Amino acid sequence: MPRSFQERSFNGTPRGVSVLGSTGSIGTQTLEVLRLFPDRFRVQALTAGSNVELLAKQAREFAPRCVAIGAEEQGPALREALADTDIEVHVGGEGLCTAAADPAADVVVAAVVGYAGLKPVLAALEAGKTVALANKETLVVAGALVNRLLDAHGGTLIPVDSEHSAIFQCLVGESDRQVEELVLTASGGPFRTRPADTFGAVTREEALDHPNWSMGAKITIDSATMMNKGLEVIEARWLFDVGADRIRVLVHPQSIVHSMVAFTDGSTKAQLGVPDMKVPIQYALSHPARWPAPHERLDWSEVPRLDFELPDTDKFPCLRLAFEALEAGGTAPAVLNAANEEAVALFLDEQIGFTDIPRLIEATLARRAVQEAPTLDVLQAADADARRTVQELARPTTN
Ligand code: NDP
Ligand code: MG
Repeated sequence: MPRSFQERSFNGTPRGVSVLGSTGSIGTQTLEVLRLFPDRFRVQALTAGSNVELLAKQAREFAPRCVAIGAEEQGPALREALADTDIEVHVGGEGLCTAAADPAADVVVAAVVGYAGLKPVLAALEAGKTVALANKETLVVAGALVNRLLDAHGGTLIPVDSEHSAIFQCLVGESDRQVEELVLTASGGPFRTRPADTFGAVTREEALDHPNWSMGAKITIDSATMMNKGLEVIEARWLFDVGADRIRVLVHPQSIVHSMVAFTDGSTKAQLGVPDMKVPIQYALSHPARWPAPHERLDWSEVPRLDFELPDTDKFPCLRLAFEALEAGGTAPAVLNAANEEAVALFLDEQIGFTDIPRLIEATLARRAVQEAPTLDVLQAADADARRTVQELARPTTN
């Protein structure tokens, strides 16, 4: 092997990295990757929603310049926990944005879950950062706005989501003009083979039991409804500037082929590996290099077969709703996202059933008129409206 790319691309100066959502599933796995490369990164900011204990523990280990916590009421406890350090503590929505734009960071890993991750990502992009994006909801809600910020401030977006990382890797050395189709693979979730007429009885625990991936609660429910794949179709549209008519979803229960790109000459490239988010997280940090790492390898003798089938959008209406929202454009994807977040939270709280999730999203989309070319204010209003609508529709009617 020639002298490796990694040696050429690592110039000996550690890169400043911030991790937004460092206490979550992607956040903690990002820190695991950073532990493998202590000389290459200097952690500048860590943030959480409310988990003071873990955030303070991480701050003691990685000694960032600053930390931020979303929940205002947790500010005093975090300050107290770090009182004997010189780590700056920021609090609330503004505090998260301050941490996201910390001048000492070159790359910001965006791993907050849901709409709460939007504004910090926008703050990082306004500061011209390279953003390693796990928070797909940002692109679902505000894809056009994100692309404008990238143009205006010279930042870069690198996907962390495994499917988009796979496509990104397949596109290395290729021309956009020669891409025919993006093929996003989907595990199909825990209910791929379960009869649809039993979906009314799905419990929270069953929906949280994903066959291949261990993830945060919200994305795990999104995988069970297949809304996750719908959100990923919208994410792919903005990341790769490819229309919905050229994005195909294929169910692949083994989650080994992470996605594919079909080219105009009839050739298809795929990226494969064990389902382990540390691999795409690391690629987002090492790109365009690859760094040697001890992540689990595929043992081909233990891969008996790779199956593919078309998704069933009657059984999983969320996937259809996402394609429709993308087609409708404007505020529709933001409404889809907000309605989904609200419905998933109600389901996790055992206030609604599994089949109520797509029902409430569809009813909310039907009630909210699409506004074209939305500004951030318009998107925020659409988000709040959609959440209110879901709450109203979910409330049991009393006579
Ligand atoms: P988790 O729920 O595990 O973690 C979410 C993180 O966001 C935590 O650090 C949490 O802090 C923080 N957070 C939650 N709410 C707020 C808030 N209101 N303000 C500020 N911070 C907040 O989620 P995941 O790691 O699973 O997912 C993160 C993102 O990555 C999602 O957008 C998901 O779709 C995407 N993704 C995840 C994958 C996975 O394997 N998990 C795969 C591909 C994409 P706290 O701990 O204090 O609550
Ligand atoms: Mg994914």
